[in-house]
Amino acid sequence: MKVVQAGDPVLRATARQLSRDEIADAKVQQLIELMRETMRDAPGVGLAAPQVGVGLSIAVIEDRPEYQRNLHPARKAAMQREPVPFHVIINPTITAIGDEKAEFFEGCLSLKGFSALTRRHLKVKVEALNEKGEAVSIKAEGWYARILQHEIDHLQGTMYVDRMETRSFMNDDNYLRHWAGVSVENVRELLELNERS
Ligand code: ZN
Repeated sequence: MKVVQAGDPVLRATARQLSRDEIADAKVQQLIELMRETMRDAPGVGLAAPQVGVGLSIAVIEDRPEYQRNLHPARKAAMQREPVPFHVIINPTITAIGDEKAEFFEGCLSLKGFSALTRRHLKVKVEALNEKGEAVSIKAEGWYARILQHEIDHLQGTMYVDRMETRSFMNDDNYLRHWAGVSVENVRELLELNERS
């Protein structure tokens, strides 16, 4: 499937919830399969149905070990990034656990070629249905918690650009050229981003 880009109204609408009967329907099952393929093709670590032009409250998530192979171990540790097996969340609700936040560069398949510093809750809890219509409860921390927040935002019509540090918005070439090896603390200093309370 084609990943729709920023400006498509579907990315700004609230996705509709599904009944258990709808989830069992072959059309929805096929949509989930296509979303998995589209996410892997991109490749990305998450994809929400609105990103393929479908206004339904479904997201797929998968952070494969091979995506993390080229990350510097210290960076991977700082990101708290660990492999996450493929799974589906339907009609999710999310709540933050505690007040801790984490800030890293974040991108989106619907804003291809850009990224920006984005602050997210460090720990979250998600209640959702899976692809079989069964209730699931997820507690997540670190990068996985970030992926969940990003994808569930999509289901509410929100994108990371609504939450980013606007001065840190940049394209991938310049990220790699100037910022990839710089700590978030130093990026903040170099971009003259004020300390937050
Ligand atoms: Zn996205």
